[in-house]
Amino acid sequence: MAQNNKIPVLMYHEVIGEMELADKLSYRMTPGYFMPIEKFETQVKLLADRDYKGIDFSSLPEKGDDGKYGIITFDDGWAGNFSRALPVLKKYGFKAVFFITVGFIGSEGYMGWGEVNKLLAEGMSIQSHGMTHRPLQTLGAKDILYELQESKRIIEKQTGQKVSAFSFPHGSFDDKILDSAARSGYRVVCSSELRPSYISSFNGRFSVIGRITMNSEIEHHTFIKLINFDRKVVFKEQFIKSSKNILKRTIGINNYRKLYRKYFNIETPDEIQ
Ligand SMILES: [Zn+2]
Repeated sequence: MAQNNKIPVLMYHEVIGEMELADKLSYRMTPGYFMPIEKFETQVKLLADRDYKGIDFSSLPEKGDDGKYGIITFDDGWAGNFSRALPVLKKYGFKAVFFITVGFIGSEGYMGWGEVNKLLAEGMSIQSHGMTHRPLQTLGAKDILYELQESKRIIEKQTGQKVSAFSFPHGSFDDKILDSAARSGYRVVCSSELRPSYISSFNGRFSVIGRITMNSEIEHHTFIKLINFDRKVVFKEQFIKSSKNILKRTIGINNYRKLYRKYFNIETPDEIQ
């Protein structure tokens, strides 16, 4: 693979069945993050039809490999990751990376450790999305280390596998947090910023990987443009995201979340992004 080939890294959350949009758990997260199973399967098929292979962070191609690669990731540890996404991934021979929030595992709507370990047995990668899903930038140094290190320790204990990647809850991080992640033994950290990765992005040193946020409103033609990092579509998505980030910085992340909950009629304080 040419060193400058772009690798799309996709960020999914939950995959749902057809009639579950009004499910009682759906208030917890941005509505668009609930991906209908049919759409998810079509997206994986679009990748497979274009000869993409779904890999994880540890199975990156060697120099000289001219294949096409994509990395599918899931955040939070939702139950449908196991019941719905796994059969699709297996059908197309795709690996994926599951970033789980340790404090959610075993609670209603999320996977249990049994399911997490079954994902692992199917060749999937289990990595960390922290303990409590709090935005790290709102925490003090001690709590940041707790989110990074305790989640890693528990996942490693429960799965018997090394954890080396972390996905930031709410996409929240800064230079100090990156430094703490590197010192906590992580090699790859994932944000929700839209920018391409390359084989050279995963060079064994500490890497910050951007991802393409998948939501149920993305049409198939836009999906194809996104995985190709089409300049126009990428610019549009980045513009929307940076506007949100400016708002977050201006009014503070907690006020932003309040506003966000109001906008989406999310009534509970424990919404997930
Ligand atoms: Zn999350």
